[in-house]
This record gives sequence, C-alpha cells and structure tokens, in this order.
Amino acid sequence: MDLKKVYEENEALLTGHFKLSSGKHSPNYLQSAKVLENPKVAEMLLAEVAKQIKEYGLKIDKVCSPAIGGLIAGYELARQLGVNFIFAERVNGKMTIRRGFEVKKGEKILICEDIITTGGSALEAAAEVEKLGGEIVGFAAIANRGLCKRVGSNFEAKSECKLPENLPFFAIDDFIFETYEVENCPMCAEGSEAIKPGSRGN
Ligand code: ZN
Repeated sequence: MDLKKVYEENEALLTGHFKLSSGKHSPNYLQSAKVLENPKVAEMLLAEVAKQIKEYGLKIDKVCSPAIGGLIAGYELARQLGVNFIFAERVNGKMTIRRGFEVKKGEKILICEDIITTGGSALEAAAEVEKLGGEIVGFAAIANRGLCKRVGSNFEAKSECKLPENLPFFAIDDFIFETYEVENCPMCAEGSEAIKPGSRGN
C-alpha cells in the first residue's frame, strides 16, 4: 500500500508551515482525521495493520486508544481483530480510563494511535491499563513518524521514542518529515508565520 498516496488523495498530508506540538516547525503535517473521514478508507488502512498483527501472531484481548486521535483507528482495528475496544481520555490533563470500561487482571491489551510520533500519549494510556491489571502486549498506529522502530522497518528507534523496545509496534509505513527548531526554520527566515494545525480550520 502506498500510504503517502492515500494521505494525499484524502487531503490528509498538508504542506505549508506548521508549528508541531513539540514546538518545532515543519513544512508537512498529517491530518489523520481526514484520512479516516471515509469509513471505507479507514477499513482499508486498519486491515493492513490487522494483517501485520495476525502475521506476527500476537494474542490480543482488547484494543485501547488514547482519545481523541486514536479513537477511530483503534475502534476499526478492534472490529477487524474481533475484540473489544476501550479508550483512555484526558481529565484535567491526566490520562484516565473511565465510562465504566473494565480491564481484567492479565488481559492482553494493544494500544492503538492514529500516528505515533514519540509515543507519549500511547504510553500514558498504557500506564493506565497496567494500573488496572492489564498486560500491554504491543502498540499500533496507521503511520510512524520515524522516531520509533516499527515491526518490518530497518530504521532504528531515535532517542525521542518513548515506546518500550521490548514490545512490538505495528504501523503501515514511516512518514519522515523535516523539522526545525524555530531559530533554524527556513520558512520563518523567509518571513512566513507558522500555523498550529487544528487552529484556523486545519
Ligand atoms: Zn518556522
């Protein structure tokens, strides 16, 4: 599957001048909500992730996603794996599992995001699952931003990656974009102003 092409066709790979949540600037931004807007595309993408997980032979009892970004990807992945889906959400900034969701002792849980950059939110959701007695067996996302090592890729994990090295991480492909510190940003140097994705209708 040409993941980049799927993102482009669905206007989910933005080009411009973006301020990322890390504070760095980038000429590209992935708007995964757009690629998941069409349920048929979501089904196709997560089928690829489900296939990798099945081929790996990972046993999963439940999928858990950090809200909001991971919800659609995680739900569709759970549907295709034939397991239940729960989610963690931020309450006053802290990741929490609520809404009556239960995790049984020893239940094998896969954490699913839309995109994994450093894996910070995924790891926070994993910590909540573990507090309830669940066992984290792996991580999944549609795309990897190239900081973490995914199953089937030759790229080594970068120091920024927060995912544990001993657990498998499944994603369809790597999206590696240029990022710049504000001081070194060539787009800032040209006088353009970085946009925070999500604001101004992005
Ligand atoms: Zn800039």
